[in-house]
Amino acid sequence: MVLVLHRAVAIVAFLVGAWLRPDAAVGLIVLGVIFVVWEHHRPVRAQPIFRTGFATDCAHFLADELLAAAMLAIALVVLVPTIDWSVPDAVVATTRAQPTLLVFVEASLLAEVAGYWGHRLTHEIPFLWRFHELHHTIETMDWLAPNRRHPVDMTIARLSVIIPLLALGFTVPAIGAHFALKRFQGLLVHANVRLDVGVLTWVIATPEFHHWHHAHEPEARNKNYAGQLPLVDRLFGTLHLPRPNWPKSYGCDTTPPPGYLAQLAWPFRRHATAGNASTVSPALSNGAPLHRWQTE
Ligand SMILES: [Zn+2]
Ligand SMILES: [Zn+2]
Repeated sequence: MVLVLHRAVAIVAFLVGAWLRPDAAVGLIVLGVIFVVWEHHRPVRAQPIFRTGFATDCAHFLADELLAAAMLAIALVVLVPTIDWSVPDAVVATTRAQPTLLVFVEASLLAEVAGYWGHRLTHEIPFLWRFHELHHTIETMDWLAPNRRHPVDMTIARLSVIIPLLALGFTVPAIGAHFALKRFQGLLVHANVRLDVGVLTWVIATPEFHHWHHAHEPEARNKNYAGQLPLVDRLFGTLHLPRPNWPKSYGCDTTPPPGYLAQLAWPFRRHATAGNASTVSPALSNGAPLHRWQTE
């Protein structure tokens, strides 16, 4: 009975999202067909398409974007005037005086580094981990898995990229190009697809690279934070790519409640019952802290 109710809520959330964003609903179906066929032909492991949490993750796909967009808009209304006021005009003018192609390349590289640190901090700061943890409860990696994100986590991740880039004078098209590419690549790197690109595996993010970010093996935790360039993890000492091995299993030590609304409420409800050991990040829970302050 409870499971039927959760499925009903997921379907309602999905339908509301599809009604408000029909383009996203069409995108979900088109991308679903492409990735299901791809996963069928080059699977990392045999697994069902309609696995546990399928309906809820579809609801996340549509409804989270709306919630995250609303939160992002509210945050930017406050932050953009502050950024405009605090950054010297000369910085903005210097950035925008460069050739367009160079601006896009610079924006992509800076977004990658900023996104790396934004992601890393969601693992290392317990308050942020509370919202990011939902994404790491995925135990079946597939193209739909990346959509299991909390809207607050999505907003934090986007702000971590948008704020520094706006402050340096980059324009909305340059920032938007980064997010458009990342949206598709986000589906790809979670997909159950064996994609061998040879030595480029060390340069561009592939399913093999990001699957290790979700691995349950202790030695892989808090590794591979980069969105598109594993070289950034190499630069900051968090790369874990033991080729040709793949993770044996995925997930963290907690299980989210079934159902879309219950998952939205999860970080807040657990905060209300402070003291729960599962509210700490893997860095704290696996006995191998990354930083000295985590042991203090
Ligand atoms: Zn993560
Ligand atoms: Zn992921």
